Amino acid sequence: MEIKAAIISEMSGAFHVEQLELDDPNDDEVLVRVAAVGICHTDLAGRDGHLPIPPPPSVFGHEGAGVVESVGARVTKVKPGDHVVLAWDYCGVCSACKQGKVLYCLNFFQYNFHGARSDGTTTLRKGDQAIHGSFFCQSSFADFALANERNVVKVPYDIPLEILAPMGCGVMTGAGAVMNSLQPRPGASIAVFGVGNVGMSAVLAAMVCGCTTIIAVDVHSDRLELARELGATHTINAREVDPIEAVLDITGGGAEFSLECVGNPKVLRQAVDVLPRLGVCGLTGVVPPFTEVNLNMDLIMNGRTVKGILGGDAIPDLFIPKLIELFRQGRFPFDRMITFYPFDEINRAVKDMEMGRVIKPVLRL
Ligand SMILES: [Zn+2]
Ligand SMILES: [Zn+2]
Repeated sequence: MEIKAAIISEMSGAFHVEQLELDDPNDDEVLVRVAAVGICHTDLAGRDGHLPIPPPPSVFGHEGAGVVESVGARVTKVKPGDHVVLAWDYCGVCSACKQGKVLYCLNFFQYNFHGARSDGTTTLRKGDQAIHGSFFCQSSFADFALANERNVVKVPYDIPLEILAPMGCGVMTGAGAVMNSLQPRPGASIAVFGVGNVGMSAVLAAMVCGCTTIIAVDVHSDRLELARELGATHTINAREVDPIEAVLDITGGGAEFSLECVGNPKVLRQAVDVLPRLGVCGLTGVVPPFTEVNLNMDLIMNGRTVKGILGGDAIPDLFIPKLIELFRQGRFPFDRMITFYPFDEINRAVKDMEMGRVIKPVLRL
């Protein structure tokens, strides 16, 4: 079928909205009419060649939400008309998947980053030319996207799809890092380094978990202001003060939990250095491959933990409905982070995100 998609023709180039051909769904696939799609830093990492993906031309987009248009013959999870959020795909049979750790799927790249279906066939073309698609098994910078039954999550009809789009990656990653991985007890202290979409979702999740000291660290004062409105008890502008001293000061000896959401070795060092004994530092910030960090080994030896966390350790089918229920109850107002743009203004949305002017741009189709 003919679709409208934002395509990248050269590495680090601009997005161009063009007409492409999308394949029909296979037996295990779901065709989704995309209502909205969030833009995430991983899309830009793909654009800039920082992911193990084939070179352009490519269609990115992995925070799609929409309505099921049609389904393959063997699909039983959803039916046409259902509202769905799209997440990442996984094989479902490897040892990580069998443990429910689907983001650590041993075949993750093949299912999400190969520019094609996991069997190697492509879903997108322009005339005779194959276009790399199937990004996170969706490529949802488009008005229609092909997903697998595995990575569509059915959501309620009464919450606008345009709000739910970022659930599929950024929001789930930040909230899950706290609720699934760190699991702070009520009354605990936590310091979140970097309050973009992931860190801000972590702040909201810390509220849900009953943390009583929630410290947001960032260099953008407007983000810190929003973090405070959303539940941070303290904010630290790392451009103005030494964040390590400030956190130690506020907590009287260290934050029991910290979360690195920036993807910067210096910030990870800070996030570890604010821990007291038995403290746990979660790492969600994405860095280029082979990035190294210097840590105080003696400090870690004394009962501190540094934990890498992908995708909030979440199983999308189980976790997204929980977050939606919290949102419905007014306990997880993640929609406050969103700025909407028309699909055709994708380049303006990307620029605004890169400049730090918006936290979570969402394109309306
Ligand atoms: Zn797997
Ligand atoms: Zn993402």
